[in-house]
Amino acid sequence: MSAPSIITVAITGSLPRKKDNAAVPITPAEQVESTHEAFEAGAALVHVHVRNDDESPTSAPERFAQVLEGIRRHCPGMIVQVSTGGRSGTGRERGEMLSLRPDMASLATGSVNFPNRVYENSPELIEWLAGEMRRYGVKPEVEAFDLSMIFKAVALHQAGLIEGPLHVQFVMGVKNAMPIDREVFDTYVKTLHRLAPDATWTGAGIGAGQLTLARWSLEAGGHCRTGLEDNVRLDRDTLAPSNAALVKQLVALCGEYGRRPATPAEARALLKLPATAARS
Ligand code: ZN
Repeated sequence: MSAPSIITVAITGSLPRKKDNAAVPITPAEQVESTHEAFEAGAALVHVHVRNDDESPTSAPERFAQVLEGIRRHCPGMIVQVSTGGRSGTGRERGEMLSLRPDMASLATGSVNFPNRVYENSPELIEWLAGEMRRYGVKPEVEAFDLSMIFKAVALHQAGLIEGPLHVQFVMGVKNAMPIDREVFDTYVKTLHRLAPDATWTGAGIGAGQLTLARWSLEAGGHCRTGLEDNVRLDRDTLAPSNAALVKQLVALCGEYGRRPATPAEARALLKLPATAARS
């Protein structure tokens, strides 16, 4: 039996629509449709940012509510993870959507440089976001941009601020942050296993090396992530026509490593999430 790997699809990033790829879904309706296609292709978890490129009066929490409702209706069982990161506002605005009780939310456990700014996560904000996630029964996905963030996540768990088992995403390839590097990746896997043996993890490769990190993750027993947030190309020359096309690429890759895409029910069991989405 091949071991299931959870495929995350990051449908929409926080940066303005890439000029060369109009496939990035922006409106809540586009986001639900793109998620549904990715779900049908094999993604069990969707990572969502909302955007206000059209400057409509709809607030970010309202947009999150629309997307959440649409995904729950059209993609039964799919795990919905909201981003509390880039451009979800500043400070505590970044956690305003947690009261909608999505299944999961991203939680960066430290600060790091991004391509054009500092991704600022003060200890106070991290603890506040973790507390809000606990309050609303939202499982954090720890975003580890370097090794210290893995240690911080374990410390938060040991202090009772994050419920276990931990789920950590190793993010590599963001310009000015940690590049996609094999020795560092192996150290991440080894360190997480040493500090939190029951933790699960995902490798998220950003940019041109995305598939490299997906391969390493599948080989090492982890979960993997794709989507137009991370990379708008299928290969060096071809623009990805959709999030679903990127998911299909990972589904095919699973077979090369004796893995198969986890169903939503399997993904929930692996992440110790309730069998069905909680209702707000
Ligand atoms: Zn994101």
